[in-house]
Amino acid sequence: MRTRFGICQRKRRYAAEAEALQAAAKAAVTLRPYRCALCRQYHLTGRTKGLRVPRFVLERKKDEDGREDFTAS
Ligand SMILES: [Zn+2]
Repeated sequence: MRTRFGICQRKRRYAAEAEALQAAAKAAVTLRPYRCALCRQYHLTGRTKGLRVPRFVLERKKDEDGREDFTAS
């Protein structure tokens, strides 16, 4: 997932994935945490499109691979 700089600036950041998951659990709508390639912290997105946690784990692994880093501009 590409993260635009403006979105990163506007969104609330969570330093830890657990923190983001807690906030998502409290929200009235379905939110999904994702690792931001810009600030390297976590944001929540409401665009779940039916994705479930295993998919998120896959995306996170891709992030940690480094290929997504610094490509969003
Ligand atoms: Zn960010």
